[in-house]
Amino acid sequence: MGCSLYIHVPFCERKCGYCSFYSVRVDDGQISAWLEGLSREAANYYGSQITTLYVGGGTPSVLTPAHWQKLMKIIRNNFDTSGMIEATCEANPNSLTPELVSFLKDNHFTRVSLGVQSLIDSELRTLGRIHDSRTALNAMGLVKDSGLTLSCDLIFAVPGQTLRTWAESLRNVMNYASHISAYQLTLEPDTPMGKLYGNDALNTAGYKFYRYAQYFLPKHGFSQYEISSFAPDGFECRHNIAYWYQKNVIALGPSAVGYIDGVRLANPGTLEEWLSGGKVEREELTPRERKIEHVLISTRTKWGVPRSEILPEIEDIIHSMPQDLFIITPERIALTQKGMRLGNAIWCEFLGV
Ligand code: SF4
Repeated sequence: MGCSLYIHVPFCERKCGYCSFYSVRVDDGQISAWLEGLSREAANYYGSQITTLYVGGGTPSVLTPAHWQKLMKIIRNNFDTSGMIEATCEANPNSLTPELVSFLKDNHFTRVSLGVQSLIDSELRTLGRIHDSRTALNAMGLVKDSGLTLSCDLIFAVPGQTLRTWAESLRNVMNYASHISAYQLTLEPDTPMGKLYGNDALNTAGYKFYRYAQYFLPKHGFSQYEISSFAPDGFECRHNIAYWYQKNVIALGPSAVGYIDGVRLANPGTLEEWLSGGKVEREELTPRERKIEHVLISTRTKWGVPRSEILPEIEDIIHSMPQDLFIITPERIALTQKGMRLGNAIWCEFLGV
C-alpha cells in the first residue's frame, strides 16, 4: 500500500510578523545544501510507493526552475510515483510565476495551496506579509486559469479585521478557489506580532469570524470537511486526510514530522542540525495512545470516527456531554458545526481518560 510524502522547503523571502514556523532567508548556497540533504534522506525510503505528495514550507515558490528540476529528480529517482493521486505545492503570491505554474502542471502536480491570508491591504500589512491584495488576485487568477486546483489559506482575528472585511476576503477567494483553509491568528510570544499584541485578546476575537465562515462558505457549496478546511465535494485535500486518519507519511527536510506504522518521526528543527545528521526524535505510541489520538484527530473531520474504533471510556464521555456537539449514527461519531467550534474543549475532555 502506498504512503504520503511531505517535503519541507525551509526558505522564505522574509519572515512574516506572526510566523513561528521554521524558515530561513532564501540563499542559493543553502538551497543547494538542502537539496543534497534531501537526496540523502530520500534514499532511506528508496522504492516507496507514493500516493500523495505535498511540497510545503516555508515558501516552495521561492525555488528557481533549476532547483525545482533537481527536486523533481530526487523524487523520481527515489520514489515510485506511478500511483500518485494528488500532488500539492504551497506558494506565496509574491513568488508564484507563470513559469512555475507551467512547471507544476508538466510535472503532474494537481493543486497549488496559496498563502493569500487576506485580500485587505491593511490586514496584509499588519500581518507583515510581503504581498498586497492585487498580487494575490493575480496569483489566484494564474492558478485558476492553469486548470490546477487552487486552495487558499486565509487568516481571521487579525487586529483591525471586521466581519465586513472578513466577508470580502471570503467572497473574493471563493470566486477563484476550490478549497479554502481558514485559520485563526495564533501568536507565539517570541514573534514580533506576539510581542506587540499578545494572544489572549485575539483568542476570543476569533469566534465570530469562524462562525461566519461556517455559515457563509457551506451556503456557497464549500462544505466544512475539517475544523479549518472547506471545499466542494471531491476537492478535499487527500494528503491532509492521510494525516487525520494516521496513514503513513514520509517527511523529508528540516523540522518535518512523519508518521510510520504508529511511530512519529520528527526531523531536527534547523537546517544546520538536519544537514549535520542531527537526531530524528522517535515517538512510539502505545496501542492505547494510538486509539486516543485516532479519535482526537479524526474527529477534526466531518466523517469523524467509526464507533468500532472508539475506546468505551471515550464513548462514555461523549454521551455525558451536550448532544448537540455530536452527530451520532450507529456506525460513526463526528462533531456538529457547534462541536467544531468547541473542538479544543471537547478534545481536552477526551484526553482526561
Ligand atoms: S511565508 Fe509562511 S512560512 Fe514564510 S515567514 Fe511567512 S508565514 Fe512563515
